[in-house]
Amino acid sequence: MIDFNNLKTAFSDKSDADLNRAYFLFKSMSNRFVSKTLTGFAKFSLKLHLPIKSIIKSTVYQHFCGGESIQQTQTTIDKLWQSRIGTILDFSAERKESANDFNRALEQILTSIEKAAVSDSIPFSVFKPTGLCKFSILEKINNNNPLSADEEIEKKEYKARVDAICKLAFDKNVAVLIDAEESWIQDAIDSIAEDMMVKYNKKKPLIYNTIQLYRKDRIAYFNALLKHAKNKYFIGIKLVRGAYHEQEIARAKAKNYPLPVHTVKTNTDTDYNSALELCIKNIKRVAVCAGTHNEKSAQLLADLIEKHNLNKNDERIYFSQLLGMSDHISYNLSVAGYNVSKYVPYGPVRDVLPYLIRRAKENTSIAGQMGRELSNIIAEKQRRKNA
Ligand SMILES: Cc1cc2nc3c(=O)[nH]c(=O)nc-3n(C[C@H](O)[C@H](O)[C@H](O)COP(=O)(O)OP(=O)(O)OC[C@H]3O[C@@H](n4cnc5c(N)ncnc54)[C@H](O)[C@@H]3O)c2cc1C
Repeated sequence: MIDFNNLKTAFSDKSDADLNRAYFLFKSMSNRFVSKTLTGFAKFSLKLHLPIKSIIKSTVYQHFCGGESIQQTQTTIDKLWQSRIGTILDFSAERKESANDFNRALEQILTSIEKAAVSDSIPFSVFKPTGLCKFSILEKINNNNPLSADEEIEKKEYKARVDAICKLAFDKNVAVLIDAEESWIQDAIDSIAEDMMVKYNKKKPLIYNTIQLYRKDRIAYFNALLKHAKNKYFIGIKLVRGAYHEQEIARAKAKNYPLPVHTVKTNTDTDYNSALELCIKNIKRVAVCAGTHNEKSAQLLADLIEKHNLNKNDERIYFSQLLGMSDHISYNLSVAGYNVSKYVPYGPVRDVLPYLIRRAKENTSIAGQMGRELSNIIAEKQRRKNA
């Protein structure tokens, strides 16, 4: 069993000041009213260009992000790597609308691949499709709706951006993760991710799609993918539970279609764990990045590695968490010899705000593992006091 309760290891590179800041942050986020008021105020103030950037930067941004540019993330990369935890540089631009923004994101992602190619401390690159294409166009592609002539051009440009990323990843032998988003654009994302796997995963899994196991249809999707890939290409897969649960339910209710997501948490957990089992059972053709803050799922993957006589640091198996969350999982897994990485979001404060708001929402939920962040910080503060 991995000792996830070893908080000395979990917080080994955090100063008392770091812990106090984290305590203040998670305490605020755990209060639904305070969290909602503060996120609403932040959105409103940034829209009006009120000078609150420095407040966000010294609090929530400092905790969850690496910096405003790739160069600024170096301190975080080095700090994590001292504990043998890799970094996944995540340029956090999403829901953008202009070609300039998409090309800026493309440049950042290509630079992160170049950097990963020469850095042991960066095991993956990553991108979010809505950082490279308008949401409305992805939605039309998803639904096979007709596109105008201009939209056809934008679609072509989007596909070229994705191909440029995957080609560079292939040329530089760097693995790249494609994030999953809302279900009503996900077929479009799956389709291009599969095309990229067919094209670039012939010899090894370099391109990874993401499966969200809160969706009721994803185990069937994974089984179909395994069948499709058989003897043709390797599958790279990132497994997550999914970050858009509330939006999925709200939209399905508003538009009156069957809920695409589970509403019973244990059903999501069961599907997540089944997907882990499918990965390890098919490990000869699959590489997996388990993006989770759930201790039971992390322990299950460790057990599966042992059961199938695989090395703890098998290059096809990675555990991954988000910067600023679940250090008790990341650091204890790393000390035990497993491959661990953290998403390190970076970018201008304004661009990273949607990501930060998702983290705030996630940590307001007392269900699941999220209440653990605060109790771990309190326990570590107490442990240090006693010591
Ligand atoms: C490295 C990494 C990469 C990620 N990439 C993506 C990505 O590409 N796309 C994406 O969408 N998310 C992504 N996420 C976010 C991820 O989906 C959330 O962190 C995750 O949902 C939290 O779940 P957990 O596995 O940590 O475990 P837990 O905390 O045990 O589970 C919480 C999750 O369970 C699900 N859930 C909660 N309540 C219910 C309910 N009543 N019924 C059914 N299900 C419920 C929700 O998905 C919720 O987020 C990523 C996370 C990590 C760590």
